[in-house]
Amino acid sequence: MRIGIGYDVHRFTPGRPLVLGGVEIPYEMGLLAHSDGDVLLHSVGDAILGAYSMGDLGRHFPDTDEKWRGISSVSILEEIVRMTGAQVIHMDSVVVCERPKLRPYIPKMRGKIAGVLGISVGAVSVKATTEEGLILRGEGIAAYSVVLCS
Ligand code: MG
Repeated sequence: MRIGIGYDVHRFTPGRPLVLGGVEIPYEMGLLAHSDGDVLLHSVGDAILGAYSMGDLGRHFPDTDEKWRGISSVSILEEIVRMTGAQVIHMDSVVVCERPKLRPYIPKMRGKIAGVLGISVGAVSVKATTEEGLILRGEGIAAYSVVLCS
C-alpha cells in the first residue's frame, strides 16, 4: 500500500471561469494560475505523485513551461495517472472555500474525478469547509487531498 498527501492554493482573480474538481462553477471570479487553477485536482495529483515518491506537481508541470499554459487540470491529472501508473484505492479531499457554496457541485466533482482515476464514485470523497474567514480571508481557495494506492 502507498499513501500520499497533496495541498494546493490559488488566489481569486476576476475574468476567469472557476473550475473545481473538473467542474465549472458559476461565480464572479476564477482562480489565478498557469493552468485553469483547479486546486482540487492539483491537490489530488500532488497526493498521487507523493504516493509514488515522484516529487510534486510544480516539478512536473512548472508554470514556466508554455506547454502547460491554460491547460485543463483534468489533462494534468490524466498525465499524472499515466506516468505513475496509479492504482488508487480510495481518496479523500477537503476544499477550503469561504464562497461560493460548493455543496451542490460535489456529486459532479466526485464523478469527474472517479472517471479520471478509473475508480468507482464511492472511492472518491470530496468535502468542503470554510474557515469562518479566520485564515484565508476569502481571497482564494485551498484544497487538501489524501490518496491510498496499491
Ligand atoms: Mg496549483
